[in-house]
Amino acid sequence: MKSKHLKLKHLIMGVALAAFFLTSIGSIWSGYRMNVASIKENTLETNRVYAQKLATTASLYLQEAFQILGYSANHLESKMDDKNALNSETERLKMQDNMFNSVFITNAEGLVLSVTPPAEEVQGQVLAAVETEEALSKKEPFVSKPYEGNTGRLLIFISSPIFSETNEYLGMVAGTIYLKERNVFNALLGEHFYHDGSYVYVVDSDGRVIYHQNSSRVNDIAIDNKVVQQVVSGKSGAQQVVNTRGIEMLAGYSTVPLTGWGVVAQRPLDVALEPSFDRVQDVIIKSIPLMLISIIIVLWAAARIANPLQRLATLTEESLETKNVEGLKSVRGWYFEVYYLKSALIRSLTFLQGQVSYFKDQSTTDPLTGVTNRRTMDAMLAEWLDNKLPHALILLDLDHFKSVNDTYGHAVGDKVLQFLAQNMQAVARDGDVCCRYGGEEFVLLLPNTTVEEAVQVAEELRYNLAHTLSPCGRKVTLSAGVAVYPQMADTAEKLIEAADGALYLAKQAGRNQVMVAEQENK
Ligand code: GH3
Ligand code: MG
Ligand code: MG
Repeated sequence: MKSKHLKLKHLIMGVALAAFFLTSIGSIWSGYRMNVASIKENTLETNRVYAQKLATTASLYLQEAFQILGYSANHLESKMDDKNALNSETERLKMQDNMFNSVFITNAEGLVLSVTPPAEEVQGQVLAAVETEEALSKKEPFVSKPYEGNTGRLLIFISSPIFSETNEYLGMVAGTIYLKERNVFNALLGEHFYHDGSYVYVVDSDGRVIYHQNSSRVNDIAIDNKVVQQVVSGKSGAQQVVNTRGIEMLAGYSTVPLTGWGVVAQRPLDVALEPSFDRVQDVIIKSIPLMLISIIIVLWAAARIANPLQRLATLTEESLETKNVEGLKSVRGWYFEVYYLKSALIRSLTFLQGQVSYFKDQSTTDPLTGVTNRRTMDAMLAEWLDNKLPHALILLDLDHFKSVNDTYGHAVGDKVLQFLAQNMQAVARDGDVCCRYGGEEFVLLLPNTTVEEAVQVAEELRYNLAHTLSPCGRKVTLSAGVAVYPQMADTAEKLIEAADGALYLAKQAGRNQVMVAEQENK
């Protein structure tokens, strides 16, 4: 059956595949989201802990630096005029675990008395920078802000005041950190080099970068960065942030209380999520064979579900033409709806066909006797004549039937008519047709039969009837007239007329006999 309508098979396939793909995409998507969430959470936590650890390291360094410089200051008060002693002290301090890039000692006016490593721009000069003036005027342990020193280097220094025994301020001893060169931060913070894109930077209390793995970024102002704002206001924690270059970062941060510095450990978001993308790709690639198998199963199942229905439809249509439900019975009802539909179809088609043949019988037979009715007989006779089929016709009538009715009643009369019909059918040969012509008159149509053969049949019937008790309790007899086509008539009307004439003669001659029509009647 060709049709523009959507086929059930394709409908099932479509729905099943859509459900399959939506579920797959949904689960991959939610898996990816969960993965992303957990990666973010883990990275933030790792960076928070790491920033905290590095802030502690920086605090310990500063404490140690103050301790060492303080210790040195205590021993220097008596040696401020001894050049050699001062030089050996700056050398000693410079050697200390590479804590400082350089060490210098000034008097109370800022005049450099000793510097290691030696530098002409510094040795014997008065340090006039705001930072050194601040340190000299404060007369207390001090950490400078980044500034450009006499040598043109960007640096910070850590200093300790020198006092005499009489508590007179004599100057300071200071260690520097060259921010753009290898320094103590590299040793403390940069020892873990991250291949995964993570990095660490340190800002001072103004949000100025004082350490960065990429030294060109040292001295940048990063106060626009939300994380830097948090950390310089003394807070520690972790958050996702867009850095000054517009890159999404997962940042942990921690403050260094001693100086108000902030340590930030961070990792670009897209770098952190890369494994997640890889995982999704991996999941998709790995699930391709499963997907293919599922698709094949879906296609196969859809075909199997739809096939019986499709066959039922085609076979039902066929059975309307062939009037046969055997084809439908061959459909395998392997699931409830098909099984149910199939038996319903078979039942209703069988019922319909029964109804049709019942009504057809009704329209062709006589209800009392079951033999062919007058209307059908006329149609058959007309068809035989159209086809010029040679045949004989016997018209017969019960003798004195009125008296049977009168004596035994109409119902018994009916029984006698049925009895006659049975006797007619008993003598009829294959192909002969028994008809009720009307009332108690009957006709036998005998195809391809000569007049002699027809007389023989009529005689047999007459004889049987005359020698058997009928339902009324006694024997009844009949009279018959025989005519043949084409010898005696060329139309149905004339043929019956001829037979009727012969019947009349039989009645005239005393009944219970068979007469043949006249040849001349033609
Ligand atoms: P004969 O033919 O020998 O001349 O006498 P008859 O008594 O048979 O006369 P006729 O053929 O004229 O009568 C026909 C009767 O058949 C009349 C009617 O009461 C009866 N008859 C006709 N049709 C039926 C029927 O269906 N049932 C019954 N019980 N009787 C019928
Ligand atoms: Mg009659
Ligand atoms: Mg009669």
